[in-house]
Amino acid sequence: MPAEEFLTKEERAQISSAIAFAERETSGEIRVHLESKCPNKDPLKRAEHIFKKLNMHKTKLRNGVLIYIATTSHKFAIFGDRGINEKVPANYWQNEKDQLLKAFRQGDFKAGIEACIADIAIKLQEFFPRAHDDHDELTNEVSID
Ligand code: CA
Ligand code: CA
Repeated sequence: MPAEEFLTKEERAQISSAIAFAERETSGEIRVHLESKCPNKDPLKRAEHIFKKLNMHKTKLRNGVLIYIATTSHKFAIFGDRGINEKVPANYWQNEKDQLLKAFRQGDFKAGIEACIADIAIKLQEFFPRAHDDHDELTNEVSID
């Protein structure tokens, strides 16, 4: 299904709220990006490209995480910047992906993404607690190409 139809406007707003909620306790920054078709064979490559395009590599602590979903291609990836990548176990992103896939198979896209955000937030909070002078370095809006 096309990226514009993958989530309703309301669902996108709810995901945005879930990101804002997650970021209340961490300096880490989470974003969700949707597009219809993934031009790469490997969605992780594409996620990395989008990550840079959205300037997500410019956070102070390099702790941005992008959830990338190609809705027509049925591909997705989670790309974490090196700050967070250095801290989590090697299989961490794969586990998150597996859980997301499970939710997607059940057709519950919004709940799956929200659960993924909440999960990643726990890790971010562990390694990157929010400082008192924290600000929102990256928008919480879901972006669509
Ligand atoms: Ca922040
Ligand atoms: Ca943010």
